[in-house]
Amino acid sequence: MAFIYYKTESEIRKIRESSLIVSNTLTEVAKAIKPGVSGAQLDKLAEDFIESAGAKPAFKGYRGFPGTLCISVNAQVVHGIPGNYILKEGDIVSVDCGVVKDGFYGDSAYTFAVGVISPDIEHLLKITKESLYKGIEAACGGNRIGDIGEAIQKFVESHNYGVVRELVGHGIGRSLHEAPDVPNYGRRGNGQKLKAGMVICIEPMINMGTKNVKQEADGWTMTTADGKPSAHFEHTIAITDGKALILTSFEKIEEVERKTVEVK
Ligand code: MG
Ligand code: MG
Repeated sequence: MAFIYYKTESEIRKIRESSLIVSNTLTEVAKAIKPGVSGAQLDKLAEDFIESAGAKPAFKGYRGFPGTLCISVNAQVVHGIPGNYILKEGDIVSVDCGVVKDGFYGDSAYTFAVGVISPDIEHLLKITKESLYKGIEAACGGNRIGDIGEAIQKFVESHNYGVVRELVGHGIGRSLHEAPDVPNYGRRGNGQKLKAGMVICIEPMINMGTKNVKQEADGWTMTTADGKPSAHFEHTIAITDGKALILTSFEKIEEVERKTVEVK
């Protein structure tokens, strides 16, 4: 089993700082998302914002990935490359962002509606976000990795959605991806014990149809096998002796979303 790095309080504070830069970046992205905007434009905006915050994009150059953001539209699950695709009314777009500052990483993802989306896709977004919080609720010190996976899987499957198996959450700290793996499926009582000082990313990737995914010819983009939509929400959290501490935040993003809805 790969080595787990337990973080000190001051290290968790640094991860918190990077995590909030990620959340603020996603908030800027939220303000810019509307029909007519391209992935490349969002990527540029995010890169500039991260640099102005004194941080560096974590994904750019990671194993050769070309973007600051992963931008995955509709049936694309994750790892989409920002490009010339123009967002249109009714699309959903999953935006994944990571930054590093002072040697510590933060990582978060959010799936946005572009304009008005259909009620069934809105439901997919709602359930996927709720499943993330079910996972976080289960991530108490003393529980196990399998408790997180079971909480997410049970909830999601009760809504007849598919939980992606090929991609999972992860530890985070001085590296973007550390041990342990944090699957969005599993069985209570199984896997690594959660202990104070662990910092992990929980990131359910939930498909409206089949759980199966395929990789696109670009070598990065993962897409649902049946072409139905997929959603992705992610928080970086710190394990404590009690309830987990959420280090990233959706608060400002949700504020932007509420204002956007009022305008519609
Ligand atoms: Mg992640
Ligand atoms: Mg991420």
